[in-house]
Amino acid sequence: MITHSWARYKGKPIHIDEVTLEMREEGEFFNVVSGKKMTAYLEGKFQRHFHHLVPDKTSKETYLHETAKQVFLDSYEQALQNDKPFQLEYAYDATCNRLFKETGVKCKLGSRTDKFDLTRVYDTFFLEKGYEGFQPDIRLSSTKNPLENIFIEIAVTHESSSKKLKSGHKLIEIKIRNDEDIKALRKNHISVLNANTSLYNFRKKGIESEFCLSSEKGCREFRKVFIQYKNGTYEFPQYYLENIWSDISINHERIKNVDYQVEKTFVYLNDKENKEDYLKRNGLEIRECKLCKYVAHNREKIGKKNFRTSLFCKFLKENVTDEKAELCEYFRK
Ligand SMILES: [Zn+2]
Repeated sequence: MITHSWARYKGKPIHIDEVTLEMREEGEFFNVVSGKKMTAYLEGKFQRHFHHLVPDKTSKETYLHETAKQVFLDSYEQALQNDKPFQLEYAYDATCNRLFKETGVKCKLGSRTDKFDLTRVYDTFFLEKGYEGFQPDIRLSSTKNPLENIFIEIAVTHESSSKKLKSGHKLIEIKIRNDEDIKALRKNHISVLNANTSLYNFRKKGIESEFCLSSEKGCREFRKVFIQYKNGTYEFPQYYLENIWSDISINHERIKNVDYQVEKTFVYLNDKENKEDYLKRNGLEIRECKLCKYVAHNREKIGKKNFRTSLFCKFLKENVTDEKAELCEYFRK
């Protein structure tokens, strides 16, 4: 025995929760599949449901499949008639080009979703009507452009055949497991974010826009860049594009050259090797404290037998590390 939460009322599918006492007294309810007469059970110790007045053998699969189809169709038809949207939430690849002109870098923001009102294009529909050798459960179509079609497939036990999926036709498959899944169709909103909804043969769009404008922290593309200063020093800062760009803008008078694509030319696994190689290829000398004429090698005794060597700058009169030389204006070979 299956519990029916849906029946037909005045030619349309109705959920038991929408039935009033008045409707029960005056109206007539029918099995969505077999058309057999039913009555609405509204009060009592059991959950509200429709039950048959005559024996009926509708299987659960058929009931779910047929009801989902009718509810989808009815919801879509109502949206068209009342000028209401029926949204499809789809995924696209977002790229931010806000700082592209200045830096040649775009922020790759990955997959995002947006909504599209299907009724704006698909103003007509067909139920189980053959089309190019297929028989989709429902086909949404455009009267202006009859080649624009979306197959809607309701999957209860069987998933859409691979032939249909490979046909090239846009197809939305909605898996229906229970009455709640059917009720959700009434929201006029189907989404790729729902586990039971799959889109096939929709080309994933790439959208380029100044997306990062709406982010408080600005452009989030993480990069390593090369900055060469007019005084001969250089550095390889690694940070968010927004911060790098703002630092460069502030210091632009001191800067000779910036390479935002520096990492593209890196070939070694080791960062240090890559930097050395990069500098060599660009005819720049490597600045390291150990190569500087002001450096002294300190040997510090730690423990009985062990020593630690460190670099001491005789000019700055402090301990230094190799990296310090990159931006040190006193570096001399
Ligand atoms: Zn950005």
